[in-house]
Amino acid sequence: MGLEIRLEGVRHEYERTEDSAAVRALTGVDLTVAAGAFAVLMGPSGSGKSTLLHLIGAIERPTAGRVMLGSTEISALPERELTRVRRRSIGFVFQFFNLIPTFSVRENVSFPLHLLGEPEEQARSRADQVLEQIGLGHRAGHYPNELSGGEMQRVAIGRAIVHDPEVLLADEPTGNLDTATGERILELLASIHRIHRATIVMATHSDRAAARGETIIEVLDGTIGSVRSPA
Ligand code: ADP
Ligand code: MG
Repeated sequence: MGLEIRLEGVRHEYERTEDSAAVRALTGVDLTVAAGAFAVLMGPSGSGKSTLLHLIGAIERPTAGRVMLGSTEISALPERELTRVRRRSIGFVFQFFNLIPTFSVRENVSFPLHLLGEPEEQARSRADQVLEQIGLGHRAGHYPNELSGGEMQRVAIGRAIVHDPEVLLADEPTGNLDTATGERILELLASIHRIHRATIVMATHSDRAAARGETIIEVLDGTIGSVRSPA
């Protein structure tokens, strides 16, 4: 079951480096996503969608403000605890799949279970179960470079749900796929939502993708514009 996600007064700045000025990516975000909801972040490139997902996914900590997952204030956790939350409670799907090229499909999917210390045999059989669910049981022994883009994204989704996370985050998951393949990926995410009832937050540019959500959150210039139901 999903966790409620709550952001209060969240700001995020990327620090100045030798070659670049500091960037204010989020200028003030207050947002609640209900437990078990399927929310969509929409907004132009550079508006702060990925940054928001990284803060919710415990990949980064905000410069200011609070990020809550259920009753846990993840923005206040020390690094070690943050890693634990990330491994246990979060699944993350990226636009460019981010599979490990030297791992087989099965090894990619079971990898999060190894990080959680699950015994090999158990991890393997759980991965095979997930591969059946995503329609790739027959590709378990193949390697990422032997797959189509749509299949790679299915594997990435398998990896994101193998540990049954309470929060599933997807950053433009169809952004690198043709329309028909993208539709199948969205269908898979929708079916995962029906079955697992994780809280899903998906960033997208696509109206078709956004129509899958229950709530559409508009992100503009580092802050939240409107929050509405899909048309
Ligand atoms: P979106 O996902 O909506 O395209 P991002 O969250 O990636 O937006 O980016 C928001 C702003 O933060 C942009 O101006 C972007 O250039 C900047 N930004 C994103 N990541 C970094 C980073 N690692 N270092 C510096 N600036 C960044
Ligand atoms: Mg982005």
